[in-house]
Amino acid sequence: MLTITAIPALEDNYIWLLQRERHAVAVDPGEAAPVLEFLQANGLQLDAILCTHRHHDHVDGIEELRRVYNVPVHGRSHPKNPHITHDLREGDRLRLDVLDVEFEIIEVPGHLDDHIAFIAQRAVFCGDIMFGAGCGKNFEGTLTQLHHSLQRIAALPDDALVYCAHEYTAYNLPFALACEPNNPNIQRRAAETKRLRSANLPTVPFTIALEKATNPYLRCTNPELIRTMQARGLADTSELGVFTALRNWRDHF
Ligand SMILES: [Zn+2]
Repeated sequence: MLTITAIPALEDNYIWLLQRERHAVAVDPGEAAPVLEFLQANGLQLDAILCTHRHHDHVDGIEELRRVYNVPVHGRSHPKNPHITHDLREGDRLRLDVLDVEFEIIEVPGHLDDHIAFIAQRAVFCGDIMFGAGCGKNFEGTLTQLHHSLQRIAALPDDALVYCAHEYTAYNLPFALACEPNNPNIQRRAAETKRLRSANLPTVPFTIALEKATNPYLRCTNPELIRTMQARGLADTSELGVFTALRNWRDHF
C-alpha cells in the first residue's frame, strides 16, 4: 500500500513523499528540513530521491538529505544539475522495490530542457509542466514543446492523478475564467478551490478529467476560448496559435 503525502516547502512548493511501510522516496526536495522532520516524526527512512528538473526550488534540499541518507537521485542528467546520480531518459522504466512501484519516464521539455515526468499507478509527478488550471513558464525550449508535453500528460487516463510541484490553482483560476467566463466547470472549481484554500488544504493532486474541463492550455480548441482570443486580436486560431497566444497573455495578465 503506497501512501503519498504533500510536504509544503518554501513559499508554495510541494515535496511529494511516497511511503510504503518504513520506506520513503522524496520527489523534488527543494529544502531538506521539512523532509527530515517528517521522516523523523513518522519513523521513516529515505531510500531515494526523484528529481523532475534542475530548478533550485526542486533540488536545493538534495545535498543535505544525502548527507543524512546516502541515497540515489534519479533524474535527467544536465551539466547544470550536479545532483543526479542515476540518469533517466524517455522510455526508461525506474523500478523502486522498496515502494513496489515501477515508474515510466517521459521527457517533457518546454519549461526546462531537462524536465521529465514520473508515471506510475495512475499518478504522474510532473514538476512544473502542468499546474492546477495552468502550466509552467517557457524558460527553455519552445512553446511547441511545452504544448506537446502538456498533451502527453493530458493523454493519461481521466482518473489519473496529477501531482505537480506548486500550489498555484487559486492563482491560475482567474485567468481560466477570463478565457472562458461561461464555463461552469471553471466556476465550480474556483468555488471549491476557495473552500480548500481557506481551510488550508491542498488543491493538489487533481485528476486529468478536471484539467481537461478547466485548464485553458488543454482547451485551445474550445469555441468560447477561441472567441475570447479573437476578441483580443488573435488571427491564427490553430491549436498551437491559440496556445501560444494564451501563454503570452498569461505572462502579462
Ligand atoms: Zn521549474
